Amino acid sequence: MAKGICVFCGKQAELTDDHIPPKSIYPKKIRSSLKKMNTENSCFECNNGSKIEDELFKVFVGTVGMPMWRDLLKESKESTLENNLKLAKEIADNTKIHNEINEAGKSIEIRRTTLTDSQRNMVFEVVNKCAMAFYYKTYGRIMKLERTASFVHPSGFYQHQLIEFEHEVSNASWVSLNANTCNYTFVPLKNSDIVFIINLYGNIEFYLLLRNLNFP
Ligand SMILES: [Zn+2]
Repeated sequence: MAKGICVFCGKQAELTDDHIPPKSIYPKKIRSSLKKMNTENSCFECNNGSKIEDELFKVFVGTVGMPMWRDLLKESKESTLENNLKLAKEIADNTKIHNEINEAGKSIEIRRTTLTDSQRNMVFEVVNKCAMAFYYKTYGRIMKLERTASFVHPSGFYQHQLIEFEHEVSNASWVSLNANTCNYTFVPLKNSDIVFIINLYGNIEFYLLLRNLNFP
């Protein structure tokens, strides 16, 4: 193993390859179609801390995955739930069936799963880890935050921020990984906040507001 800087904690350490985004969201069939999956330099401790989070994230992605991948993602999600009965029960308890009218005027059943607070935190941890790794890749330094990253939705911005944000997003350059299944960008705003946007499988999108980064 080579020595170097861990992109998460910044320590000099023996480096391991950490799959970012996590390998868990790639079912075997998709994984084998990708020549090489994206990895980042991580120390052993940082690479080894998130098995449960990754598992939940996989289930989350498998639930909302876009049509062209849906069957593969669903299959992988279901095999995880077969092996993790606790998680399966939690998901079932928090899934409600709604009746909605589709475009053809027919009533259809829609399943909606709400995440519990702890599940939401786990999803956040995974997204945050992606942000940290890609932040290092983009800016060449460790994303040190006093836990001020948070999920945000553009509709939650003030009107003047939203205009700035939309303008910046329209000019943003996106980085594409793993055969376009993962795309991300950092959108710096005037007040030194940065919005990290990551899009997985074309339709699963997270916005993370990174505050007080103390830009030079
Ligand atoms: Zn580390």
